[in-house]
Amino acid sequence: QEDQFKKVISHAKEYGYVFQSSEIYDGLSAVYDYAQNGVELKKNLREYWWKAMVQMHDNIVGLDAAIFMHPTTWKASGHVDAFNDPLIDNKDSKKRYRADVLIEDYVAKYDDKIEKEVKKAEKRFGDSFDKAQFLETNPRVLDYKAKGAAILARMGSSLEKEDLADVKALIEELGIACPLSGSKNWTDVKQFNLMFGTKLGASAEHATDLYLRPETAQGIFVNFLNVQKTGRMKIPFGIAQTGKAFRNEIVARQFIFRQREFEQMEMQFFVRPGTQKQWYETWKESRLNWHLSLGLGMDNYRFHDHDKLAHYADAAADIEFKFPFGFKELEGIHSRTDFDLKAHQEHSGKKIQYFDNEINESYTPYVVETSVGLDRLFLAVFSNSLQEETLEDGSSRTVLKLPSVVAPFKAAILPLVKKDGLPEIAKEIFDSLKFDFNVTYDEKDAIGKRYRRQDANGTPFCIAVDYESKEDNMVTIRHRDTMEQKRVAIADLKSIIDAEVNM
Ligand code: ATP
Repeated sequence: QEDQFKKVISHAKEYGYVFQSSEIYDGLSAVYDYAQNGVELKKNLREYWWKAMVQMHDNIVGLDAAIFMHPTTWKASGHVDAFNDPLIDNKDSKKRYRADVLIEDYVAKYDDKIEKEVKKAEKRFGDSFDKAQFLETNPRVLDYKAKGAAILARMGSSLEKEDLADVKALIEELGIACPLSGSKNWTDVKQFNLMFGTKLGASAEHATDLYLRPETAQGIFVNFLNVQKTGRMKIPFGIAQTGKAFRNEIVARQFIFRQREFEQMEMQFFVRPGTQKQWYETWKESRLNWHLSLGLGMDNYRFHDHDKLAHYADAAADIEFKFPFGFKELEGIHSRTDFDLKAHQEHSGKKIQYFDNEINESYTPYVVETSVGLDRLFLAVFSNSLQEETLEDGSSRTVLKLPSVVAPFKAAILPLVKKDGLPEIAKEIFDSLKFDFNVTYDEKDAIGKRYRRQDANGTPFCIAVDYESKEDNMVTIRHRDTMEQKRVAIADLKSIIDAEVNM
């Protein structure tokens, strides 16, 4: 697993997907730049989301609110007082950790153990193996599940009291080896606010303290009335937004999974009070289906329903993805009640209500939110697509099987040789396709080497122009995944590519 993750990181660099920020100055921790291919993949993922959420729904509209917001926004939202993570220091190693992540990572090991038990049993029982029943009845599995649940339950309340003693006591009671067990060398837990502060204004005495937004959602809430009125929106309706968010993460690791500057894609759906549970379920299902439509496979996703809820929520779940380092949150679906709109009404003194003429009543709408990290989505797609294949002749190839719809380049046009008029034909093909697709042109190295380069880059099609093309106006088209080659008319290229890459 660790090896696979290292491969992902080095492939992302080698093929121009992700670079560390300011690398020539030895980088900036947990900040990354998206390179020539990465920027295309990221843009395509963003567009794929936007089309599904905004273009496909006549009751969802877009917004692009500023990153800077009036400072009272963050007082109202609760971020000034409560957007904290529990920080803990190890006195020996002088290393700093997020206490909840430390414990969650430990509990996640139980999941691995359960998976191992399942694999063993699968082998033993073969076709007659009933996984669901096994998970419900096997004593070892039940023991792992119970221990994990007990630790997480105790963690919730203890970390808020800034005290790990309770969790540690449980860990000792259960007699398990955890990074925290038996150690006297941990400090107590401190709450650490994750917002980045900055100043607006030229002179020190008149400057206003601002925050870089830690989530895009609040830009939607403060614009609720403006959008509802000018767009004549009728409840239920949604407002969607993509954009940067900033969090001063205590421990930022795992590559682009947890960054200090990242991008969110959020949609806030405003509903009549009392209907939120139903909408919450609808959006949970709809968002999972959206992820599945990328074709990475059902087994890579699971829901994690929250028992412990944030101050604004009456229900919450994560869609977790199987990253190279295990199942982790990819998207959150939250039933946020009327908390945010009410808080902004109170802090701004402006009435934020909706008149529902179907029931002749004014009310503060309830909100169901879907929030996915674009960078995490990028990592999910990228890490899952990177594969090492052994071919029939015993050689191996590295192939990035990105979903074609989001691949940076849809086709590479490759003249067999750099002379005899072949580059001219290839460039003509390039010019005829470039209005419809992002295509690339490559004439360096032998054709086999170029195929491999495009495989590793994730390009679904290679189009090779050879001597015969001059006579018959046909080319060889090769598919990245099957490596199958077909002779087709140049005139048909557009429709062949279109059939594969268009949503
Ligand atoms: P975590 O528990 O992993 O810190 P969170 O529960 O704080 O995440 P939310 O506040 O629900 O995350 O944010 C919504 C989404 O934004 C997450 O599902 C995730 O995809 C993304 N996200 C949050 N923090 C980061 C980060 N530091 N780097 C990259 N993406 C992030």
